Amino acid sequence: MAARYCEVALPVPLRSTFTYAVPAGLNGEDLVGRRLVVPFRNRAMVGVGIAVSDRAPEVARVKEIAELMDTLPAFPPKLIELGHWISRYYLAPIGETFRAMLPPEIELRQDREYRLTAAGRAYLQELASGAESTGAESQDLAVLRQFDSQDGSLSSSRLRRVPGGEALAEKLVRRGLLTAQSVVHHRQTRMQKIVAWKAEEPLAPRLGNRQLAAEERVREILTATRGPLPIGLLMKQAHVSRAAVNRLEKKGRVTTWDEPLTAGEDVWETDFTPPANVLNAEQKQALRDIWRWLVAGKFAACLLHGVTGSGKTEVYLGAIEAALSRGRTALALVPEIALTLWVGRLVRARFGKEVAVLHSGLPDVERAREWWRVRHGEARIVVGTRSAVFAPLENLGLIIVDEEQESSYKQEETPRYNGRDTAVYRASIENAVVLLGSATPSLETYHNARAGKYNLLELTSRVENRPLAEVRIVDLREEFRRQHRAAPVSETLRAAIALRLEEQTQTMVLINRRGYSWSLLCRSCGAFVQCENCSIALTYHKSRQRLECHYCGFSIRPPKQCPKCQGEYMYFVGDGAERVEEYLREQFPKARIARLDRDTVRTKREYQQVLGAFAGGEIDILVGTQMVAKGHDFQRVTLVGVVAADLALGRPDFRAAERTFQLLTQVAGRAGRGELSGEVLVETYYPEHYAIQCAVQQDYAAFYEKEAHFRRMLHYPPFTALATVLVRDRKIENAIRWSRALAACFAPFEERGVKILGPAAAPLARLRREYRFQFVLKSPQRSALGRALSSCLDFCAAREIPATAVIVDVDPASLF
Ligand code: ADP
Ligand code: ZN
Repeated sequence: MAARYCEVALPVPLRSTFTYAVPAGLNGEDLVGRRLVVPFRNRAMVGVGIAVSDRAPEVARVKEIAELMDTLPAFPPKLIELGHWISRYYLAPIGETFRAMLPPEIELRQDREYRLTAAGRAYLQELASGAESTGAESQDLAVLRQFDSQDGSLSSSRLRRVPGGEALAEKLVRRGLLTAQSVVHHRQTRMQKIVAWKAEEPLAPRLGNRQLAAEERVREILTATRGPLPIGLLMKQAHVSRAAVNRLEKKGRVTTWDEPLTAGEDVWETDFTPPANVLNAEQKQALRDIWRWLVAGKFAACLLHGVTGSGKTEVYLGAIEAALSRGRTALALVPEIALTLWVGRLVRARFGKEVAVLHSGLPDVERAREWWRVRHGEARIVVGTRSAVFAPLENLGLIIVDEEQESSYKQEETPRYNGRDTAVYRASIENAVVLLGSATPSLETYHNARAGKYNLLELTSRVENRPLAEVRIVDLREEFRRQHRAAPVSETLRAAIALRLEEQTQTMVLINRRGYSWSLLCRSCGAFVQCENCSIALTYHKSRQRLECHYCGFSIRPPKQCPKCQGEYMYFVGDGAERVEEYLREQFPKARIARLDRDTVRTKREYQQVLGAFAGGEIDILVGTQMVAKGHDFQRVTLVGVVAADLALGRPDFRAAERTFQLLTQVAGRAGRGELSGEVLVETYYPEHYAIQCAVQQDYAAFYEKEAHFRRMLHYPPFTALATVLVRDRKIENAIRWSRALAACFAPFEERGVKILGPAAAPLARLRREYRFQFVLKSPQRSALGRALSSCLDFCAAREIPATAVIVDVDPASLF
């Protein structure tokens, strides 16, 4: 018998699904994985069918599904399974989980439709015939008149013609004169014509020379160099008219189809020739191993541990090729949008239009187009950021997670999943190979490799046996003793830069703090000038003459006096990227200097411009935050300076050492990648710290030993499962009361193997005006931890603690 009910996941912060009746003539089974429009609390909402049932739910009236959105279900079955897992593992509301997995809804527009009731019609007639009316009545009349010509129903967009029309209509609804209903309209998207080469046979020699030349140019571009192109771009590149393209289509030389118009940056527009590298022995060995796992056709997780510059990308490309040759599809995740361009370009150069790119920076229309290209099987390779782990590929054979340790894989809003761990789970249900790549693997991943859960593939040397850059420590305590002043950049680093300017090679300077000064301090009372909304010191930005909060955006002009004690001795403390840049300009007035951080580059294009200028040798010194540290391959950088390398070590967080080690190793990897050898100078006040020592020696194994020891002793991941529960509210009384209630709810779990710390004020005790209290939960058994968290959420629902006030974070990226 056909299933009569369908469980629908709706984007609301509740942990349950909702049951709807399947419309007559349809089978419930066909609705699973499909986007559905359903009535929900007086409006229309888009959800996903995720299960069927035959039993009617215990409610008076089960509403019926209003509409099916797609001919092909948006989600293949494995993605439904993945969504269930995320919701369970991260204790995320199921509807919000599936919403995060959906393609953008470009084809829908929400609207409200009003209808005149019988009472409304009578009132309209009365008003229309009456000679006099009050002001309010004439306003009503203006609205109701709109319905006259429209057989009694109107959409809210039409009502906007009357001033205040929508608000008035809502009033009339309350008076029973109108009814209102939410509807969704399908929107027409603008399309563009794509042209592809079709003819197989050689060109007819009879053609006149000019025509032949045009046809030859089109063929050359569409086959040899570019693949299918939008017609506008083809006309530009081949210097042909629209009529000429139409002629070619009539003759059957080319074929065309329509796709939604690409807005913003055009993915087709890149001209790029990839380097042709011959794989070295280690790269070949890694690929042989991956091939073996692919042939086995079973789940396998591999860690590709390769030092910076060891050529991991070539291994990725080879692995993708191997997966395709086995008839499977492939997914490559990168930690940030900028890298999708870099990696996407390499992959596209190799595999052409089979590649789709997915990330949140794309305009909705373009993202939807790429998404559906993947869903329809037209693209068999996806390159993307975190959320691309939900790409609707079928028959997935390979998932690559580049720089697997990056915290950007963790989503910091509901659902709070980690893209890397989700990739591993997805690979396990797809019987695919997951390849985690890194020069500095996370403790979790390396631990799994050591324990034999993951296969360890190693690239121990740089390509062409280039030496790793030499790393030296600049002990700032000694510098200070010698110089008796603290300049934004140490004398040692300054001299090293001067040398590079003479040699005409390039320098990168990493300072992982934006702004001019970290904070403004009052010498009289010792207080920092703080954000009004957050418990954090404001950062000084000189170019804008503002003190700014990097968490909530609050800003003020720097006060002349201390806001607390009216003291007059205000001091700027700590040098940020803006100050370092200014100092270098003072020191080297002739050098070409640029800065790369979120203050100087706001868009992808600007970012590309700065990096392009640096790669092209138009910049001598590039100053930047961690944005400069990742991935890029610059050939003429011979010096990397790290200013305030130990900044992160002071954070009250169990990953502080790991993050410091990773950042230093990454940035050191930027030096000496070309034929010139490189040097790295690391400025620090704590030269003895093992994170700094091991980074200097570029000794991952030694770092792992030290750090693993610390984690084991203090019960932190990977030796313990960890979760945080944050309670927040604008009213401190609420935050305290709910924290106490939760403490009582957690208490029984102490005896069931869960260690509960807190509630305590969170490290950021106040953020965006909310007071925050935090629990830290630890357990050697993940299942015990899950039960404690689950019962906490049930408790909140029962006690009506708002869902938005309690944030559960499983495997948090940090405790900060
Ligand atoms: P990683 O990601 O491991 O730091 P990349 O993949 O960026 O390293 O490779 C570094 C550089 O080495 C790139 O310019 C790449 O083209 C080049 N390369 C990769 N493999 C080889 C090889 N076998 N021979 C020569 N150059 C190579
Ligand atoms: Zn703030």
